[in-house]
Amino acid sequence: MTELHVSAAPGTLYIVSAPSGAGKTSLVKALLDSTEQIRVSVSHTTRAMRPGEVDGVNYHFVAREEFLAMLEQDAFLEHAEVFGNLYGTSQRWVEQTLAAGLDLILEIDWQGAQQVRRLMPHAQSIFILPPSQEALRHRLDNRGQDSEAIIEQRMREAVSEMSHYVEYDYVVINDQFSHALEDLKAIFRARQLHQHAQQRRHAGLLECLLR
Ligand code: 5GP
Repeated sequence: MTELHVSAAPGTLYIVSAPSGAGKTSLVKALLDSTEQIRVSVSHTTRAMRPGEVDGVNYHFVAREEFLAMLEQDAFLEHAEVFGNLYGTSQRWVEQTLAAGLDLILEIDWQGAQQVRRLMPHAQSIFILPPSQEALRHRLDNRGQDSEAIIEQRMREAVSEMSHYVEYDYVVINDQFSHALEDLKAIFRARQLHQHAQQRRHAGLLECLLR
């Protein structure tokens, strides 16, 4: 993996993690619908496509051999094995998006988050938690897409995933969707007002003001 010089990149990189069923994907989608200048990375995965998912939109679905070949070619900024499937973030996509001045969200697990933090210390990380274990189980049941054994496995994995919240800059509790969305928006808004971002956005104004 090549170290990225992110302080020089105009866009901000965000990591969003959560246990399955905490509502991360819906929150990120609502955030993207309400804000311009933010993109979300489409990961590569070896997991089977779920009903309703679209290749190239939710994930780039690839065979294990293809994933391993990409890994060999250093194509991934980070990668991890989750629930027996491989997931990875395209390094080129991240570099190009940030260089274009866009903010980019990586929806990745804690293992990937640790790798990205090491490579890109300026990345902002957000952990989304459910309001209770019962709510989490209920949301997993409601998906109706996975077997009982997988739900039980995911509940155990969820507790283990949630224990990593301490490694993140921000924590959002998704009790009421609209409140959680406002919390998420507030984090992004604050970062957009950071002095460095404002300096880039208002270079002309600042030059005039200080003339
Ligand atoms: P799911 O298969 O339910 O969509 O995702 C399972 C887990 O894999 C989630 O925690 C999700 O955030 C994580 N994940 C998805 N894409 C990536 C990726 O590119 N890298 C890593 N490290 N985790 C990912």
